[in-house]
Amino acid sequence: NVIKALKSIARNQQVKTKIQESEELYPLLKRAAKRFVAGETKEDGIIEGRELLNKGYAISLEYIGENTDSVEECECAKERFMDLMESLGEASMSSTISLDLSHIGLSVHSGIALKNLRELAAKAKKYSLYIMISMEESNKTDRIIEIYKKVSREYDNVGLTLQVHLNRSEDDILDLLHYPGKIRLVKGAYQEPPNLAITRSDELNNRYLQFAELLIKKNHLTSIATHDESIIQELKKRGHLNQDNVELEMLYGVRADLMKCLKEGDYKTRVYLTYGTEWYLYLCHRLAEYPPNIYVALTDMITP
Ligand code: FAD
Repeated sequence: NVIKALKSIARNQQVKTKIQESEELYPLLKRAAKRFVAGETKEDGIIEGRELLNKGYAISLEYIGENTDSVEECECAKERFMDLMESLGEASMSSTISLDLSHIGLSVHSGIALKNLRELAAKAKKYSLYIMISMEESNKTDRIIEIYKKVSREYDNVGLTLQVHLNRSEDDILDLLHYPGKIRLVKGAYQEPPNLAITRSDELNNRYLQFAELLIKKNHLTSIATHDESIIQELKKRGHLNQDNVELEMLYGVRADLMKCLKEGDYKTRVYLTYGTEWYLYLCHRLAEYPPNIYVALTDMITP
């Protein structure tokens, strides 16, 4: 219920406007967001990204935005990503760019998302960058997979996120093995109806392990994107994490202690770092997926 409440608060435009207008609350929330977000600008993302690279982590960068519902907004979002890639190229920074297809056109028309993704993939190729497509609500899964498959046939620097909680993923993963892109395995962040997905449970963790094992044994490029220590330890025990095709990926600000240990243990580690003015929605998601973070956020808000 806490999760539902937080997610609906996050998406409520009136609440958001009220918060943005509040001279007291807005700066406090911004302070709480600092734990999870590099800052509001591309420069903030690049500075923090550079720090992480210097510490020995690989990075995924995302410019956070909302669903764009006009052609102009999609173009604008695409240009932001283009600009980010140019800056990374100029700074000779190796990075993955993570994005939602809804941010670059899926909410308007699949054709726009496809066109924009192709352009972004071409630019990424030029700078030796990699693009990871995020996975969104289940009513978009088919379209996202279809676009990924098309672009993956043309560019080998584009990968896809797969949500283990969706029942359909058992078939999707077998199909996706035929495409070269990296598969990032996540449990799934969206609430889905019970006929489509399973909730957090041993069954979900076992399914996660089964998918991870399948990808790794097939030598497919794989990102183990979870903060779940039990899954990571089990994969470690089975000897699956030392392979070259496997990396561990976590969100910036989440389980940094575990990530550091893994890095020091010589495992390939990647931090998913975001920046942008739409940090509010991102913060609400982080709080919703792990309610103890609410206390952490409150502490951050009152600590000078
Ligand atoms: P959980 O079972 O949720 O958590 C396991 C344990 O991890 C918790 O007990 C806690 O100790 C720790 N933990 C988890 N979350 C937090 C947190 N926020 N703060 C502190 N501790 C925490 N989801 C999508 O639906 N689509 C995507 O495209 C997508 N991309 C992602 C990319 C990356 C790199 C990562 C890491 C996640 C992504 N997610 C995405 C989110 C994912 O689906 C999960 O919601 C999220 O990772 C939490 O699940 P978990 O695997 O960590 O396991």
